[in-house]
Amino acid sequence: MKIGILLGDDIGLEVVPECVKVMKAAASRSGLNIDWRPLPVGKRGHEEHGDTLPAVTEKALHDLNGWVCGPIGHATYPRNDPTWVMPPIRKKYELFAAIRPSLSHSNLKSIHKNVDIVFVRELTEGMLYSETVVGGAPEFRPNDDITIAMRVITRKGSNRVAREAFEIARTRARKKVTAAHKEPVYRLACGMFAEECRKVAREFPDVAFEESMIDTISMKLVMVPQQYDVVVTTNQFGDILTDIGAGLVGGLGLAPGLCVGERQAMAQATHGSAPDIAGRNVANPYAMIISGQMLLQWLGRKHGEPKAIAAADRIRTAVDRVIAEAKCLTSDLGGNAGTTQMGDAIAAAVLAA
Ligand code: ATP
Repeated sequence: MKIGILLGDDIGLEVVPECVKVMKAAASRSGLNIDWRPLPVGKRGHEEHGDTLPAVTEKALHDLNGWVCGPIGHATYPRNDPTWVMPPIRKKYELFAAIRPSLSHSNLKSIHKNVDIVFVRELTEGMLYSETVVGGAPEFRPNDDITIAMRVITRKGSNRVAREAFEIARTRARKKVTAAHKEPVYRLACGMFAEECRKVAREFPDVAFEESMIDTISMKLVMVPQQYDVVVTTNQFGDILTDIGAGLVGGLGLAPGLCVGERQAMAQATHGSAPDIAGRNVANPYAMIISGQMLLQWLGRKHGEPKAIAAADRIRTAVDRVIAEAKCLTSDLGGNAGTTQMGDAIAAAVLAA
């Protein structure tokens, strides 16, 4: 496996090394050979190469199976300079779905217990203009009182994100997919998304399938999140639902993520670069470490590589143990350990198991 290391900005410089440390420990315990490729990106990429996605990184990523990427600190980048942009990685590598689990832990504070949901959010279309338009803008203002915005939904985009959701559901105990949309109102756009989900559902008779209106599921996620297993939805709805998912189980420090394409995937936690806590060794590395764990699990599934699955399983077990013991947790989880201490404890638990 060839895996890239992109630190990103701010707390990325702290949580990504912990993630890599834990992945290395798990790979060595499972006999999985990983060829690691550190690559510049974000602020450091700009300082060294004049670009947040330097050509050297852009070229190298094409040859990798996947990469771990820290958060990008775009909010503090200088405005009106096109070289200071959010690195367009999702678009360039056609990472079409974001997989974002929402998992509660019995000894950590959360609004609900026994939550175990995987959200699968479409990433390349919808209303996010940076993803859908190569020239011009999908929003325009014909006069000062009117703004018109466009939403793009395609059969291909809907079908492949639905397929990813069903493949994930197949690996889980409850084997259920809920498609969240609002077809009765957005008849064509949500209608096309729903039709493609139904088509894919027929190919997975072993997976239960249901549909839910986006407003209904928003309410039910707050009241009875335990009834959901895998939830698939379009880009904008997914943006909102996945933050609800993070809130349900304890916040951003516990919200991992994996952006997947046909042949590559990027481990990237849901949280931003958190400049307010950067450089103090207090950021919670959980989200980034579990994002790395998800990358190994995905690579194992896509490449039929049991060693990668075994490495992912080891990380999951080690993280659960460190959380259950509650001795090396960061302050957002009620502990007093630093980022590196929590990472060290998880790596040690991987090696000890
Ligand atoms: P962006 O716009 O870049 O996505 P954001 O507005 O979502 O960023 P974050 O950078 O994610 O904001 O941070 C939001 C708050 O959550 C911050 O104040 C930070 O202290 C906290 N936070 C984020 N990630 C972590 C983490 N890994 N550990 C602890 N606290 C975190």
